[in-house]
Amino acid sequence: MLASWAAAGPLTGLAPLSAAEPSGARKTIGIQVGAVSFVDQGADPVLDLLQERGAVNTVFLTTFTYGRGLAGRQIPGQPFPDHGAQESDEKFFHGGNYATPHPEFYRDTVLKQTRAPDHGDLDIVATVLPAAKKRGMKLFCSVEDVFRSDVPGVKEVAEVDLQGRRTGTLCLFHPDVRAFWTGLVTDLCKSYDIDGILFFNERNGPLLNALGASHAQSIASSRVTCFCEHHQRAAKQRGIDFERARQGYQKLDQFIQAALKGQRPSDGYFVEFWRLLVEWPEIIVWDRLFDAAKHQVLAEVNAAVKAVRANLQVGFHVEHVNSFNPIFRATRSYADLATKADFLKVVVYNNCGGERYANFIRNVGSTVFRDVPKEELLRFNNHLLNYGDEAKLDELATAGLSPDYVFRETQRALAGVDGKCRILPGIDIGIPTGKDSRQASPKDTYAAVAAALKAGADGIILSRKYSEMRLANLSAAGRAVREFQR
Ligand SMILES: [Zn+2]
Repeated sequence: MLASWAAAGPLTGLAPLSAAEPSGARKTIGIQVGAVSFVDQGADPVLDLLQERGAVNTVFLTTFTYGRGLAGRQIPGQPFPDHGAQESDEKFFHGGNYATPHPEFYRDTVLKQTRAPDHGDLDIVATVLPAAKKRGMKLFCSVEDVFRSDVPGVKEVAEVDLQGRRTGTLCLFHPDVRAFWTGLVTDLCKSYDIDGILFFNERNGPLLNALGASHAQSIASSRVTCFCEHHQRAAKQRGIDFERARQGYQKLDQFIQAALKGQRPSDGYFVEFWRLLVEWPEIIVWDRLFDAAKHQVLAEVNAAVKAVRANLQVGFHVEHVNSFNPIFRATRSYADLATKADFLKVVVYNNCGGERYANFIRNVGSTVFRDVPKEELLRFNNHLLNYGDEAKLDELATAGLSPDYVFRETQRALAGVDGKCRILPGIDIGIPTGKDSRQASPKDTYAAVAAALKAGADGIILSRKYSEMRLANLSAAGRAVREFQR
């Protein structure tokens, strides 16, 4: 324990370890794995390797998504790790439901045809589940809200943007979309003897999308969502003025576009932005409406799973932006999320976190905080977030964020849920970064895992997918777990 403590590097603000700290043996040591890894390498060999190297006791099997973050081999263009097929799956990667959809669960939705064609008739849950059980490993189905626009039904349930255009994302107030998510998780929980569901929804509301105030996105103030009929109806029920919301977002769009061109308002960028919020409070209200729909789906998914069997566990993935954007952070109450889940997978990806945090600072520094020198903005934001001594802006991508960041964000989540649900920090192993950005060494992975466990986490989830992880990093994670358990 002392060794892992030391290797985690200088951690400031540590709480003293209590003698009553629960034994490491009960912790969830999870890993996210996509279907293709089991297809390429075989269920038994992969599970043996995960147990031996990573001390893994729980598999989060990517069962539904059209996205490459959780499914598929390595992201095209990125170097392959030292295991699995060394060839891109671009030719056959499609995504969808990697289990077998049973039609009776999709009666109330137009989203009926989602079977992933990638691996023929293979049912990945039926394939991996017995192999996991044989080893005493738990298995959760990971389900992610990432679609493609050519899936039958998507066009009918898609969001509508500020300009009235249909988009490729699903409206979370649409009854068919809500019925799809509850139908899917009910199907998985009834059809397979799994341990539960991990639900992913990384979609942001219109305010964040307008500001580009996340890490990976462009500033999309003209394309924010959702202004569809279902959102209009939900607004009416809540006494929200749809027209005022639309006009507010048009004003915000004009402000953002002018700011990007460096057209400074006479009172300055921040004052003008704040004035917009004061004069058009519907901007905030409409953003809250997006969150209400998103959280309603989470609550419905939770209820649907519990209706199948009360002891099935439900977890929610809490996206990365929550750890570096104070505006977003204010909209994510851990205490509230704890009422809808058994555990939260809190993203604390510290390696790619440096690059992402720098992008976030540059994005908000080009609009709302354009009057502030970016280095000073970074320092200021570090204080708001209770970050410790992280790298300077131009060094953040190559330095990554520290294990201390992992520690602090884990403790913040634990304090937020106050024992009402479990906290499983998501640990970054090999998440692709830019050419000149940090590539995590085994030492980095070791330090991040040790920091999360030291902070009192109920376990960890190695992320994002086995098919992008190097074996030495996986071993380093396992070593940190075993040393902690000793
Ligand atoms: Zn809508």
